[in-house]
Amino acid sequence: MKGLLGGKGANLAEMTNIGLPVPPGFTITTEACKEFYLAGRQFPAGMEQEVDEKVAWLEQTLGKKFGDPNGPLLVSVRSGAVISMPGMMDTVLNLGLNDQTVIGLAASSGNARWAYDCYRRFIQMFGNVVLNIEHHKFEGVLEDQKHKRNVQFDNQLTAEDWQEVIEQYKYIVRKETGKDFPQEPREQLYQAIYAVFNSWENDRAIIYRKIHKIPDDLGTAVNVQAMVFGNMGDDCGTGVAFTRNPSTGEKVLYGEFLTNAQGEDVVAGIRTPQPIAQLAEEMPDVYQQFARTCTLLENHYKDMQDIEFTIERNKLWMLQTRNGKRTAQAAIRIAVEMVQEGIITKETAITRVDPAQLDQLLHRRIDPNAKIEVVAKGLPASPGSASGEVVFDADLAEMLNEQGHKVILVGTETTPDDIHGMVAAQGILTSRGGMTSHAAVVARGMGKPCVCGCEAIKIDLENKQFTIGNIVVKDRDVISIDGSTGQVILGEVPMIEPELSDEFQTLLQWADEIRTMGVRANADTPEDAAKAREFGAEGIGLTRTEHMFMALDRLPIVQKMILATDIEERAEALAELLPMQEGDFYGILKAMEGLPVCIRLLDPPLHEFLPNAEELSVEITKLKLTGGDEAEIKHKEELLRKVRSLSEFNPMLGHRGCRLGITWPEVYAMQARAIFQATARLVKEGYDVHPEVEIPLVIDVKELVYLRELVEKVAEEVKQETGVDFHYGVGTMIEVPRAALLADEIASKSDFITFGTNDLTQTALGFSRDDAEGKFLPPYIEKKILSENPFIVLDRKGVGKLMQWAVEHARQEKPEISIGICGEHGGEPNSIEFCHAIGLTFVSCSPYRVPIARLAAAQAQV
Ligand code: ADP
Ligand code: MG
Ligand code: MG
Repeated sequence: MKGLLGGKGANLAEMTNIGLPVPPGFTITTEACKEFYLAGRQFPAGMEQEVDEKVAWLEQTLGKKFGDPNGPLLVSVRSGAVISMPGMMDTVLNLGLNDQTVIGLAASSGNARWAYDCYRRFIQMFGNVVLNIEHHKFEGVLEDQKHKRNVQFDNQLTAEDWQEVIEQYKYIVRKETGKDFPQEPREQLYQAIYAVFNSWENDRAIIYRKIHKIPDDLGTAVNVQAMVFGNMGDDCGTGVAFTRNPSTGEKVLYGEFLTNAQGEDVVAGIRTPQPIAQLAEEMPDVYQQFARTCTLLENHYKDMQDIEFTIERNKLWMLQTRNGKRTAQAAIRIAVEMVQEGIITKETAITRVDPAQLDQLLHRRIDPNAKIEVVAKGLPASPGSASGEVVFDADLAEMLNEQGHKVILVGTETTPDDIHGMVAAQGILTSRGGMTSHAAVVARGMGKPCVCGCEAIKIDLENKQFTIGNIVVKDRDVISIDGSTGQVILGEVPMIEPELSDEFQTLLQWADEIRTMGVRANADTPEDAAKAREFGAEGIGLTRTEHMFMALDRLPIVQKMILATDIEERAEALAELLPMQEGDFYGILKAMEGLPVCIRLLDPPLHEFLPNAEELSVEITKLKLTGGDEAEIKHKEELLRKVRSLSEFNPMLGHRGCRLGITWPEVYAMQARAIFQATARLVKEGYDVHPEVEIPLVIDVKELVYLRELVEKVAEEVKQETGVDFHYGVGTMIEVPRAALLADEIASKSDFITFGTNDLTQTALGFSRDDAEGKFLPPYIEKKILSENPFIVLDRKGVGKLMQWAVEHARQEKPEISIGICGEHGGEPNSIEFCHAIGLTFVSCSPYRVPIARLAAAQAQV
């Protein structure tokens, strides 16, 4: 019942039903929260009465009463969203304490230190969460008190210390709010509930939802739960644990605990927590019970659990369980091992790994053979490596990132207010906090490298620097971090390309067994083709020939071809290009032996190959002023004229694609010849090759008829000349709405079709991508006119409809025709799901995204 009770509430209820020790309580539903917002942030009618009834029930169950000095009922008020948002929303502990009940609590328990510790925590949390008083105001008082007593840790302070702290806390509350700290428990309760509802709309929750694409209208539940206490002494404690290692996936209990502590002391980095294994030694019975409970919960939920618990006087209490967040590496290992352990099926395993997260594994890491000098070592909190400029401030990190800098965010620890800086950073380095600290959890979720608790670095914010022994690293100096090993390195380091682990291979094999849609890669070089093949590509969906034209040594020849004044001159240039292109195709076709290779003929506007007109005219002026060589000036002026004559108002809609083939057939003829000569050579050498010649940007079948004839004629010539017979296909890309609408006619003359969805999105929306993304697309998304950037996530509603129409009509004409997609959408999971739904034959994406596409295609099937 997560939708209604929120994740935390539903799981607390579930754990109670299983019979686990959970402190009693009740949950106010997300419905109430939604109504709260509909009514302009007011409690829905009848809610308070229901809460009062439940509180009465709780009082009866526990034999304690709100506000009773002899045995006060204390509760926690905990937020609980439908989709967990760790640390984003607010929780208040020890609610129900006031000046009277704290005395009763101290007396009845005989533990005054504990009672006053609870009260000061309550004022602090309530002050922060409900009364919006900044955290550091309270922290300052605490620091002063510790300083005064010359102690290092909170738990070393005495009851008298806490009493002094409480007086000062109450003073802060009075000063900040103009009112006394509320003493009436019911009033405390309603204010806290109000604050939890309100926290759904706080800035950091809103940002978190935006990053993780969580809908804004789900609302949060509120859990009111009797308190149990981990801060009563050394037979008490609190901790968090994962049932498996969330970083590597290894099947071991993994977590941290602190004795004599409460709530988020563990994750807040106040004292350095102990590893959970230590609990086995300190409280063996409790540990055994805890370990059994972990196994039980894992088997029950059939997934790795992230568990919060508290021990009160040697008694274990479960406070939360949820499916644990994990790195991609861990997700894969856990999914594969759970299949092997018989807990889940292969199909379920496929759905357990978020394809977008796989990106992490397909990233670079530090070259193990590189000579690096490790200057410090912290905890390996989130894998992957990154280099960047040291930045201590989240705002600055964001700004520098926008200016194109790579930065590493460095701090003692991070807080939810640093989220935007973490998004902007390449990696995160903290000097405090464990594997479950805020920085670690958030970085793992984002797939960013993170090194935590690196105590060797001493941060000096005032001077914007940190030191390691006598090494000084200043703001904006470059460092590298390795989140898989915890290493910190000065300067930039050489990185290497990723490989697939055995578990990853296994999972992808399962994905291949399950999926029905093919996965190809976009590759322009033999090296990319080989990489794609290694990652499991079943062919090439797009080879862009223009990239080969851009190579520095070829550009002058390409320019000669473009600038030629007559056919002969152009033929000369083309003759020079021919062997080069043949070499390119030879390499790619060979690397993809046995698999189809779709090669697109020249596509971009020609001026992309020519010098920039403005730069050229500056050069000419300079030459003239300095009395440069006449002949050179003349040549440059000629060039400028030509460049100007080729410049277009809207190059994207200009002289490009097959329009070039129509006006300059000899260019396409040369490319076709290069493809076929390479093919003939390879066939002669005994290779099994499958070239597909693709004609871009058609609007009408007649273009295709004309150019197909040209290509076929060249093929016949090459067969004659070489005496080799070979097979090939000729097809087209659908990139404009007209072609999509006329797909049946186009299919009649095509052996295959691919959707070029980058251009199809541009032409269907009438947005030029380069102009849109920088200027007007962000406000379109902010104002929710478009829900996503359509250049990243396929616009199903519009572009998708064109595709669907095209697929249906093309297949009516030619049922068996292969229809694929290339362009960025081919590697994006949401778009891949759509491609599967409309029955595409394959998706094609960059080599590094091939594993992602294989998995996403299988998920679309499941
Ligand atoms: P979050 O959603 O940020 O994890 P929680 O509501 O889980 O916030 O509360 C944070 C911590 O507060 C818990 O991990 C637990 O240690 C402590 N806590 C919450 N409720 C109780 C309770 N009833 N008794 C003791 N500790 C509690
Ligand atoms: Mg919290
Ligand atoms: Mg929690």
